[in-house]
Amino acid sequence: MTEVKFKRLALIGIGLIGSSIARAARKQGLAEEIVCAARTADSRRIAKELGVVDAAYESPVEAVKGADLVVLCTPVGTYAAIAEQIAPHLEQGAIVTDVGSVKGAVVKAIGPHIPEGVDFIPGHPVAGTEKSGPAAGFAELFINRWCILTPCDQASEAAVEKLGAFWAAMGSKVETMDPAHHDLVLAITSHIPHLIAYNIVGTADDLEDVTQSEVIKYSAGGFRDFTRIAASDPTMWRDVFLHNKEAVLEMLGRFTEDLAQLQRAIRWEDGETLFKIFSRTRAIRRQIIDAGQETPEPDFGRTHKSEE
Ligand code: NAP
Repeated sequence: MTEVKFKRLALIGIGLIGSSIARAARKQGLAEEIVCAARTADSRRIAKELGVVDAAYESPVEAVKGADLVVLCTPVGTYAAIAEQIAPHLEQGAIVTDVGSVKGAVVKAIGPHIPEGVDFIPGHPVAGTEKSGPAAGFAELFINRWCILTPCDQASEAAVEKLGAFWAAMGSKVETMDPAHHDLVLAITSHIPHLIAYNIVGTADDLEDVTQSEVIKYSAGGFRDFTRIAASDPTMWRDVFLHNKEAVLEMLGRFTEDLAQLQRAIRWEDGETLFKIFSRTRAIRRQIIDAGQETPEPDFGRTHKSEE
């Protein structure tokens, strides 16, 4: 594995992902100094109290001064303005990356602001929880999880290798991909599942003939797992859908067609079709477990406490 050590790591945003990077980078000794910028005084105070950063600034400009690795960890909708603000203050030779859950829109938002002599490499750790804020992070978040880098022509090979080594040192498996392909893959594996969860929980909330207390009481029937996903941060997910509109709409079209097929099979009591579809999907679950991306334990290996 390539040896990796940065002089100053600047995290712009110190929520779940930013503070997990801070913790993992510190634990693995990947930076001499770790600083962050956070918009609210509360987040700056908590990050300092938890000891995950050496310094916390209100202004991203202060954080990036002297930094050789800058990671944008705020909602995707904030990227363009932050990139414009920090651009004149970036060190020559620095690497700028991000953790946004969409990539095509990020290339457009950040790319044009990056000056000559700075490497820009969009990135996405495919790891997270439904929790938010600096206290929600943990150093093990990225272990055995994929981190997808979508390098364009604004980065040298050496910089891509160095950033890949940084993620690998935090426990990630690293893959490079074209930004448009990333957005399509993530639309079906992450964005549509979140949309379905938000929708089903919203529908249950609107029902008139089933009481709220019944929804909660019998939630172990499947609904509970949707509520965990639907508890994810509204700002982050609003930005994901606004910035991956085309891929999400494309996948949503496919999903709607398949749903209509299920609807038809139920209407016509076509048990054979239902059985065939449900058997195929069971095999996919098996493959996810075999790939080490999930545990076979009941309740998906989650304790009931983490679902509170
Ligand atoms: P989070 O816990 O809510 O943290 C967001 C951070 O961004 C906080 O430091 C917050 O500052 C700051 N922020 C929010 N709105 C801002 C604004 N308008 N201007 C400046 N700063 C702002 O979110 P997160 O889960 O870490 O997500 C951050 C990024 O990671 C997103 O781009 C998301 O797409 C990506 N991501 C998330 C997950 C996941 O599962 N959560 C997984 C992979 C990638 P304050 O605390 O001071 O308000």
